[in-house]
Amino acid sequence: MAANRTKVPRPLARQLFVETGHRCAIPTCRATPLEIAHIVPWHRVQRHDFHNMIVLCPNCHTRFDRGGIDRQAMFRYKELLRLPNPNRVAPEDPSPRAGLIRAYRLFQSDMTGWHKAISELVVAVNFSSGGFPTSNLKLARRAASVARASADKLCELGGEGVASAADRVFEWYRSWASEVFDLEPSAFRVTGRDDFEDWAEERFLAFVVLHEELCAVLDMGPTELDFFEAERDEQELPDVPLGTRGLWRTDETDE
Ligand SMILES: [Zn+2]
Repeated sequence: MAANRTKVPRPLARQLFVETGHRCAIPTCRATPLEIAHIVPWHRVQRHDFHNMIVLCPNCHTRFDRGGIDRQAMFRYKELLRLPNPNRVAPEDPSPRAGLIRAYRLFQSDMTGWHKAISELVVAVNFSSGGFPTSNLKLARRAASVARASADKLCELGGEGVASAADRVFEWYRSWASEVFDLEPSAFRVTGRDDFEDWAEERFLAFVVLHEELCAVLDMGPTELDFFEAERDEQELPDVPLGTRGLWRTDETDE
């Protein structure tokens, strides 16, 4: 095991265990005890990311490590955890109101996942000798499709105002991701965005507008519903100074 491997933060571990109802994630297994596995292995991603992690029993974990269950299948099992599953303990027949709040939280959490994936991609490219690291690319693409699915669900449940506000948030991330993906590796000596602060503020405003639209639909004041879930305090977003000189490669490189 790599010496620099960090411990899985408790809130994240809890989130993962709850995701599977404290059972092995393989639907036909469901055994205990439990271990947490990285789908794209730790030595390649060097980070703990909810969308890349899954709870398995030691038996399934070993089979996965030895290739008896391949990675695509494991991602599929992870996706299945997002679908309504009669075997999982879930609140019965949630009210439309509870369903909407849940969709909102899921949207926030998946946008956060996408944010982290794009940030990591930017960082990885800047510290790699050439091109996009494949594992980061895959995670970023997967996080984008997860985020899109959450956005669709929220748009569907929230009505027109919420839908257009959620699309605005999504669009902000989509344009950022496109900007990152569209760069040629040789162009990765970008030294920063002149409009960095306005750009970051746009994202914040988009989230604020969404929050207000959502509170209006729920007939609540904007402060009656937490802007983010309380648990977010325990796992704050890393403060990644995107686009600043500190992170972007500034030296000239000959390809
Ligand atoms: Zn199992």
